[in-house]
Amino acid sequence: MSALKDIVYEQVREGELYEKLDRNRVRCYACGHCCPILDGQPGVCKVRYNRGGALYVPWGYVGGVQCDPIEKKPFFHAYPGALAYSFGMLGCDLHCAYCQNWVTSQALRDPSAVSPPLEASPEALVQDALRQGAKVLVSTYNEPLITSEWAVAVFKEAKAADLVTGFVSNGNGTPQVLEYLRPWTDLYKVDLKSFSDRHYHELGGRIGPILDTIRRLHDMGFWVEIVTLLIPGFNDSDDELRQLTDFVANISPHIPWHVTAFHKDYKMDDPDNTRPEDLLRAAEIGENAGLKYVYAGNLPGMVDDHENTKCHNCTETLIRRDGYFIEEYRLNADGCCPSCGAAIPGRWGRKFEGQIADRPFLPRQRSRAVTILS
Ligand code: SF4
Repeated sequence: MSALKDIVYEQVREGELYEKLDRNRVRCYACGHCCPILDGQPGVCKVRYNRGGALYVPWGYVGGVQCDPIEKKPFFHAYPGALAYSFGMLGCDLHCAYCQNWVTSQALRDPSAVSPPLEASPEALVQDALRQGAKVLVSTYNEPLITSEWAVAVFKEAKAADLVTGFVSNGNGTPQVLEYLRPWTDLYKVDLKSFSDRHYHELGGRIGPILDTIRRLHDMGFWVEIVTLLIPGFNDSDDELRQLTDFVANISPHIPWHVTAFHKDYKMDDPDNTRPEDLLRAAEIGENAGLKYVYAGNLPGMVDDHENTKCHNCTETLIRRDGYFIEEYRLNADGCCPSCGAAIPGRWGRKFEGQIADRPFLPRQRSRAVTILS
């Protein structure tokens, strides 16, 4: 089998999110790094590179495909119970020590991250998604911003088949990439990892582009949900959580905020695993900031009723969950509370259409959509 780097460098086409500079340099706008890239060099993400004064970007492969309940992404206010056909490529623009998708996200930086790319076409991925019964197609696992051209190619095909589309992203965007994605992308989850620029530097980024992206996503009409993985000793001080949740509530108190439990992973095995009481403390801070939809995740059954959706107006329980499993769904056909009639923010179907799976699974007949590159 060819070296991973060789395969990834061959599976490319010219990108669209860049401008040419002098002396054969280019500037990439796919993520907030906005790398100026010399001829012959890659950007920070290592998957977009300058060849002869043109920017080449990943094309025609996936690093993995999986069917997930949409609740795993997590989207709690978008088509509850739907199956989300999830695909990713390789690489990331950050290098978080605790990454839970490090096998794909760090494949080109870390020799112990081995994930063979699988050849795929937008048509085959969408046909496979339809065969599995998916309603949503999601670009995830690696950072989708850095492979936006490929995601848009898949999403165009998905839209023609009447599927919903989404990004699961670190939010390190630019105005250019958001304009590029908007016509083809419905849902956008941002991992807001901290409210400290110093912490973001440790992860390889800056907080500024991420906060700008969250504001823009909301203003541009994407359906946005925010996730914060609560890491003891890293981002869990009351002060930092207050600032973070004030920021989100000031954009809109109706943006769902998921605070989820950390478990030791990749290179970050010093902090303790997050306890239920840590999640509940964070959830209370979010509610005190004015957020109406605060969820505590990754510890099912241990976080009181913080897995459920309650009406922001009358507190009636509208969706009851156990982990990813939908136990009860009570919104009416217009996405309103049946008790007080308030419109519940989100993207809702006319009715709950049941749940194909409440846990991830690999697509059946996978070989029809993807084949291993060699
Ligand atoms: S996606 Fe981001 S890290 Fe990669 S080349 Fe473009 S600006 Fe740089």
